[in-house]
Amino acid sequence: MSLIERDQKNLWHPYTQHKTAALPIAIKKGKGALLWDENDKEYIDAIASWWVNPFGHSNIEIANAIYAQLTTLEHVLFGGFTHEPAIFLGEKLLEILPKNQQKLFFSDNGSTAVEVAIKVALQYFFNKGEKRTTLIAFENAFHGDTFAAMAASGISFYTQAFQGMFIDVVRIPVPVNGHEQASFDALQEVIKNNNCAAFIFEPLVLGAAGMVMYAPETLDCLLQICQENNVLTIADEVMTGFGKTGKTFACDYLIQKPDMMCLSKALTGGTIPMAITTFTNTIYDAFYDDDINKALFHGHTFTANPTGCAAALASLSLLQTPEMQDNISRVNTSHLRFQKHIESHPKVSTTRVLGVIFALEIKTETTASYYGTLRNTLYDFFIENGVILRPVGNIVYILPPYVISDAQLQKVYEVVEKALEIV
Ligand SMILES: *Cc1c(COP(=O)(O)O)cnc(C)c1O
Repeated sequence: MSLIERDQKNLWHPYTQHKTAALPIAIKKGKGALLWDENDKEYIDAIASWWVNPFGHSNIEIANAIYAQLTTLEHVLFGGFTHEPAIFLGEKLLEILPKNQQKLFFSDNGSTAVEVAIKVALQYFFNKGEKRTTLIAFENAFHGDTFAAMAASGISFYTQAFQGMFIDVVRIPVPVNGHEQASFDALQEVIKNNNCAAFIFEPLVLGAAGMVMYAPETLDCLLQICQENNVLTIADEVMTGFGKTGKTFACDYLIQKPDMMCLSKALTGGTIPMAITTFTNTIYDAFYDDDINKALFHGHTFTANPTGCAAALASLSLLQTPEMQDNISRVNTSHLRFQKHIESHPKVSTTRVLGVIFALEIKTETTASYYGTLRNTLYDFFIENGVILRPVGNIVYILPPYVISDAQLQKVYEVVEKALEIV
């Protein structure tokens, strides 16, 4: 039996309707921006494997750090115990996070990082004896697939089976260029009419919505409105964190700072699942009490796994090398050049670039559905041509590992341009 036959016999894949979906591709190995399947066909991973892999596949520095940690202390429970990799990682992260972030809480993935932030926001007010139970989130937001994270997410076909079972979330429009005021007004209206605990948002770029972008000054205004009304702010940097926007965090573009941040995806360079939610001391202090009931009763078995921490430390060191920073600027410059070249193409309605993120929207008669025919045609064409890209409806985006070579990036652009001929 082939790998694919064995897969189909037992395994259930994410976001997949197995009856109609194409068979998966069995990947055997990876190096840098490249992946190879079981028949040795080569692919450029132009989406960094769902945005987790900035430093390239099978990265030797991270692998060595993981090996050294595995043979020293692979894991120890974090309830009642601690260890140097977690302590060191906390110190390193606090050096680069916005200065108001002072406490870190570990979990396992982006959804749990969000779940923790939402629970903390709700309990913060509970601990203070204030009734605030509503969340504010963007339309079309994506914050993960666990229950509270899913409630905050606005992509409806992900969540329609669960309507009516969620915590209260009120949505405001994304303040894309030209629609800022509508967003400000909606936020003020929502705060006036609800007991709002927190506003959760993807800063500057809504990834799963199709790399939808909005300006830092606009986000600053939204944060200011929240602060004036004592509404907590949660920056979900799960996608944007660790260099993707051209700065270490998207929040580094802001004047106002969020009360909490959620990190995962690139945290360990795409090696070991891990996440961190960060907090101000003001939030931490609302849980710090003689009363045990005010504690945060949340935890995961693998919390602060030392191997994950070692991988994150190695990733941070890589991110901070001048070579890696040069890679980020190189990819950005390259994207801007391609944007100039492609923006006037008759099939392109709009383009956008931030950091290593490039997106273009293909002109369509009707709104293209998330997993519709156009999307599938494009996806198949990219795969045939040895490039891994996952369009969102009519939006094609590129978010490569920072180490992608110029020649590889050029090939990605060429395949994207060729795809415009077939749609
Ligand atoms: C991917 C993502 C999540 C969820 O992370 P998982 O690790 O898939 O649970 C949450 N928020 C944002 C912004 C994301 O991009």
